[in-house]
Amino acid sequence: MTDPTPTPGIHHVTCVAGDPQRNLDFWAETLGLRVVKRSVNQDDPETYHFFFADAEGTPGTSITFFPWLNLSAGTVGTGQVSRTAFRVPSGSLDFWEERFDDHGVEYDDRIERFGEAALPFRDPDGLPVELVEVDIPDDDPTVPWTAFIPESAAIRGFHSVTLWLTDPGPTEELLRTMGFEEQGSEEPPGDAPGDKRTRFSAVGPVGTHVDVVPTVESGQQGHGTVHHVAFRTPTDEDQASMRRAVQSAGLRPTGQIDRHWFRSVYFREFGGVLFELATSGPGYTSDEPLAELGERLVLPGEFGDRRREIEAALPNVTIPRPETADAD
Ligand code: ZN
Repeated sequence: MTDPTPTPGIHHVTCVAGDPQRNLDFWAETLGLRVVKRSVNQDDPETYHFFFADAEGTPGTSITFFPWLNLSAGTVGTGQVSRTAFRVPSGSLDFWEERFDDHGVEYDDRIERFGEAALPFRDPDGLPVELVEVDIPDDDPTVPWTAFIPESAAIRGFHSVTLWLTDPGPTEELLRTMGFEEQGSEEPPGDAPGDKRTRFSAVGPVGTHVDVVPTVESGQQGHGTVHHVAFRTPTDEDQASMRRAVQSAGLRPTGQIDRHWFRSVYFREFGGVLFELATSGPGYTSDEPLAELGERLVLPGEFGDRRREIEAALPNVTIPRPETADAD
């Protein structure tokens, strides 16, 4: 069998949130990401699906949320993405600590991992997040969104995800199949004391790393946990070759599913984490002009005919805008 086209890295991360307005306020205003799409969960159209990304919705920058009010708080544990990290420009963590102080966001002490400075904190639902300082090259594919945060500190897409796994071996082999290379291991500071963290890296430059940490702590899906992580398979051909490789490895990927802004294949990997393979196209600008991303509720496909009914069932929310925001 021929090797699949290696993935360049993470495409998006999808999480479970509680209150939709609180989720919007934190991710769009406090962290300053752009709302690039406001839609509904395709399997549950009475629930929003929010997409936050860089200024242009570049693949490798979007974190998405299902605000499921009827779920309760989750617990991070084995078989989950335990931590999601974003890239920020070198030297910007002072800015972020000050901003978090101003906005009442609790954060932990900075830590150093693989030679990089990271600032760990949680979102209002308890989702573990980190900002990691990196040198952003001039030709970086991400485009900073500067409505709330200056370019010198703006988030520039994903840095990494961390996977908590009972038995990391089979997942590590899968990551190699997908095109990640093992970079080495580090002892704490990690997520669980005493545990070793092993880093796998794709070519990137965005969403480059997957860290693997062995743990037996059990978790529960709910507010403040990651639902799945998607990896980039830029073209349909790339995705088909990766799907075949995943199937040959003994996993059971779905067929291709149309997610309107990308096409997706899902499978649960050996350690229990839900993985997705997502194409680069058609992209978030396929149904809204770049200047108007996120302005209106987008109801793709068959949901468009039920707009009145769907809108009536959704809670009212307001997209944070700089002119209405509290002064810092
Ligand atoms: Zn997804």
